[in-house]
Amino acid sequence: MSVGGAICPGSIIGVMGSGQLGRMLAIAAKRLGYRVHTYSAESDTPTGQVADVEAVGSYDDEQAVRAFARGLDVLTFEFENIPALTVEWASQECSVRPSGNALHICQHRLREKTFLRDAGLPVAAFQSVSDEADLRNAVRNLGVPSVLKTAAFGYDGKGQRKIGPQSDLAAVWRDFNQLAVLEAWVPFERELSVIVARGVDGSTEVFPVCENVHSNHILDVTLVPARIPEAVARDARSIAETVARALDFVGVLAVELFQLPDGSLLVNELAPRTHNSGHFSFDACVTSQFEQQLRAVCGLPLGSTRLLRPVAMANLLGDVWEGGEPDWISALSLPEVKLHLYGKMEPRPARKMGHLVAFGDTVEEAANLVREARSRLVRVRAHASSKSGDSGS
Ligand code: AMP
Repeated sequence: MSVGGAICPGSIIGVMGSGQLGRMLAIAAKRLGYRVHTYSAESDTPTGQVADVEAVGSYDDEQAVRAFARGLDVLTFEFENIPALTVEWASQECSVRPSGNALHICQHRLREKTFLRDAGLPVAAFQSVSDEADLRNAVRNLGVPSVLKTAAFGYDGKGQRKIGPQSDLAAVWRDFNQLAVLEAWVPFERELSVIVARGVDGSTEVFPVCENVHSNHILDVTLVPARIPEAVARDARSIAETVARALDFVGVLAVELFQLPDGSLLVNELAPRTHNSGHFSFDACVTSQFEQQLRAVCGLPLGSTRLLRPVAMANLLGDVWEGGEPDWISALSLPEVKLHLYGKMEPRPARKMGHLVAFGDTVEEAANLVREARSRLVRVRAHASSKSGDSGS
């Protein structure tokens, strides 16, 4: 259903990948009257529970991928590690946004860092490592501490190793044994992210800058607006727009940044999709990152990204379930708190199960409230196990 090139409500949007990012995109798309089809190797997924059609298949199954894509008006992604060939098959059957080229760059650290450096954007010093001799050479050049990261399939700190003066480089390489990148250590003051949407016509809308606090390499809490000077926020937004333009990107893109003590910024990594740090926007912006992704890939005008109130988001990992069902009632009795759950049945440790969002008159107030809400969920654990030792429902 195309009007003047735009893919209008009533059309079918496809999502490769089936996690929480696809779920929230599907919710936004259904609100606007679109139909949603999802494709992944699993069933009863966070996205599939909301979508109209949940196709189950392998990314290597050409016939299944083509059949899925043939039924769509546009295909997008909620997960970047889709093989290039899969994207190519799909793009022969329907519009694919963002392009396979943007995914190809962002799914590989070495390509991504090289692209950023060539685009004149600031990144930490890095060196490619493909064997033990390379590693020794890179450590000599970049010094310690430094961080070794696999080139492919890394996220949430997976496939990373900090290298220190005592590190046994032979043992580290035996563990890695795959193309990697050694990065200079960045003594950052703060971690930030910026989410930018870019439309088919090249127009961009940038979300307010996020301040991210990590725990065990996984995002823990996001505060918006970030507590940074306006000049730093301006630089961060401008970097995100430059990246989107340089990639000729269509869709939503996240740029993770390190802020150094002098206020300068380095790009850590890119995600060619919606981002965990942007979840706040579902409740706190005129247009969420998910609706914006839909608008961008469908060729609709982008919406306003204006922040309605200071906000904080806290992730709920499977650990919150350790002692039994979290105390939802206690957290929800805080009226400025919103709960999002992703429909995952198995709460494994470190698995992203949902998130909380809280508002405040200031971002500090919102952050205190969201932490209070999360601790109310967890308090049940000590109580339940000390009372009966029963970790059941
Ligand atoms: P990544 O998977 O690259 O986003 O890294 C996960 C986390 O590790 C980041 O959010 C940082 O907290 C930390 N980290 C990654 N690279 C560096 C670096 N070069 N220097 C210091 N910390 C880093």
